[in-house]
Amino acid sequence: MTAAIEIPIEPIATSKLKGMNLENLPFGKHFSDHMLEADFIDGQWTNISIRPYSPLTLSPSLAALHYGQSIFEGIKAYKDQQSRPFIFRPYDNFLRFNSSAERMQMPSVPAEIFMDGMMQLIKLDQDWIPSFPDHSLYIRPFMFSTDEMIGVRPSDTYKFMIILSPTGPYYSAPMRIWVEEKYVRAVSGGVGYAKAAGNYGGAMYATAQAKLKGFDQVLWTDPIEHKYVQECGTMNVFFIIGNKAITPGLEEGTILGGVTRMSVMTLLTEMGLEVEERDLGMDEVLKAHQNGSLREVFGTGTAATISFIKELCYKGDSLCFDTDKWTIAPALKQNLAAIREGKMPDTHGWMVPVS
Ligand SMILES: *Cc1c(COP(=O)(O)O)cnc(C)c1O
Repeated sequence: MTAAIEIPIEPIATSKLKGMNLENLPFGKHFSDHMLEADFIDGQWTNISIRPYSPLTLSPSLAALHYGQSIFEGIKAYKDQQSRPFIFRPYDNFLRFNSSAERMQMPSVPAEIFMDGMMQLIKLDQDWIPSFPDHSLYIRPFMFSTDEMIGVRPSDTYKFMIILSPTGPYYSAPMRIWVEEKYVRAVSGGVGYAKAAGNYGGAMYATAQAKLKGFDQVLWTDPIEHKYVQECGTMNVFFIIGNKAITPGLEEGTILGGVTRMSVMTLLTEMGLEVEERDLGMDEVLKAHQNGSLREVFGTGTAATISFIKELCYKGDSLCFDTDKWTIAPALKQNLAAIREGKMPDTHGWMVPVS
């Protein structure tokens, strides 16, 4: 590891925290006092600074707006029972960010800027981490191309930023899910495994169509046969069948390798379940539902952590679940929250102290 660089800080004159209540804030609508910014110019990172959260001035010809070289991450910071700030598995997000950058022909961001910069920013804005149960400070690192030129080619210049958003419990009622067979999110060889901005814009139409039919989200299926399950909105998906927890594998490069997914696989193994990363066809799901071995279905992601799925609609048939009778997904949700809030020992080294 390289020594931490000293990042110049321009502090805010008056904190926006004064007179503000951090309880039950909606997701992604409020931002802390400061932000981190760095520019990639002439092959190197420069202008690294932390300054008050404020609008940017951008040229209408900004490359990112036209051709979509834009990637992001989502991480959460928590306070433990002694009010000390911790970040959940940030290094895994750092690695994934640079894997997204590579796929989108963007420069990698060094650890001294991504990791140390994040630490310094959160240290400065640590009073923005809510200490109420199920609350957290959502961390949004992102990077976009900044050449002021209309032309389809990788930009020479980029901007990397981190902004922070305090959020309350991400209330998600058990979801009704439309199993998508017409539209696709990702194909093998594409950019599905990258947290690239365009993946989300590209998913919105199909999601809106499913919402018109009364569903909350789509469960994407494979792009060739529309048979194998992939993921659900911005969540990975798990099926508990008998004593097995099955989640699609990452080899095809169509699925985002979630940090929550990885953590849940570890916890499920510790709970005595057999975890399988493999193709899972809807025929197998239907069969398991019919013979009573399909016990639970849920999504995993940083924003909502664990979201129960109460209905899967596939080819006009509805598979319904009584989520009140579930034991595994609720236990996972509770254990993850307890680890993050320091109410249960962190035996995996997932909680990184903000130092
Ligand atoms: C971010 C994301 C996930 C979940 O990843 P986490 O690291 O657990 O937050 C799953 N699928 C998609 C498409 C995502 O963008």
